[in-house]
Amino acid sequence: MSLGPINAPAMAEMCWLLEQKDTRLLPDAIWLGGKRHIYQHLRSMEALSVTQEVAPSVLCPDCTSRSILPELLMPPISTRLPYRAYCSDCGWLPLNAEQSRLWHIRPAKIADWLNAALGLRDRHKVEMVVDDLLWYLGDREIRRQRRSLFFGCRIASDPTKVKTELARLACPGAEVLITTSDLAQFKTTPLADRQFLSLRAIAQLRKSHLVVESIEPYLTELATQEQTDETSLRLLHSQRAVLINGTKIPVSPQVHNFLTILEEADGDEVHKRHIASKLAIPTATFRTADIFKRHKQVQAIFIGNDNTGNYWLKPEFLTLERG
Ligand SMILES: [Zn+2]
Repeated sequence: MSLGPINAPAMAEMCWLLEQKDTRLLPDAIWLGGKRHIYQHLRSMEALSVTQEVAPSVLCPDCTSRSILPELLMPPISTRLPYRAYCSDCGWLPLNAEQSRLWHIRPAKIADWLNAALGLRDRHKVEMVVDDLLWYLGDREIRRQRRSLFFGCRIASDPTKVKTELARLACPGAEVLITTSDLAQFKTTPLADRQFLSLRAIAQLRKSHLVVESIEPYLTELATQEQTDETSLRLLHSQRAVLINGTKIPVSPQVHNFLTILEEADGDEVHKRHIASKLAIPTATFRTADIFKRHKQVQAIFIGNDNTGNYWLKPEFLTLERG
């Protein structure tokens, strides 16, 4: 019986596992979860492996209704069946290592694959730079620009450490972080202005490895963000700054909060009464001339208003990727 295409679901499962807090799997999840062929495929590719850790309990493979406790049998019945467990219905059962021990996903394998697929293997050895989160794959020239390539998973669990390592190993703006993490979640972390590529967007599983088509088109898109005429609120939350014609202009906390209130309204009008209460200013003393005293240009460029006390963010500056 054919189980249909396997690489795409295996890729999806692998990416999902890489983002879990605990990357280990109980044997029951492997054998009884209905994805056995996917897990066996990932194991044959060495993306999944069987740990040395014995599972706290597994379902009896004969009756699949009782929990049993695998124990190492000394001496073993055979090298293939080194474990046994007692089921109150079925009696003693021999078990193999795959049925008795925890399995786990191996992010280092994915880093290895990427290192090879990106043509870095001859020059760089993969280096784990943040434990189980970040791997440095090596440097390569792409579109006449030297890029430092990284692979990361569960990045949001320690963005500060990841940022420190990116800054240590790559020139500013030259890092490319390939990840299984959801890119949207970085917007509120110190990594908001870093260059990410989704692993699933650029790579595909093949029989025994990962194939990367070309990351250049994705980088072109990123590169346009570096051009010097950008006017946007892209750095508002990561750096408390706005970009006007490519110049980064830091803004006061109050201006930051003002812009955030309008951003949250998604382009709708917000009355000054509401803004004043959010900023904890008495409505009577609310004057945008005071708030934007040092940031008149910021107000003129990003904010629209009418003469009845309504303010809004100009539509061209709304975040497009809103989910
Ligand atoms: Zn049983």
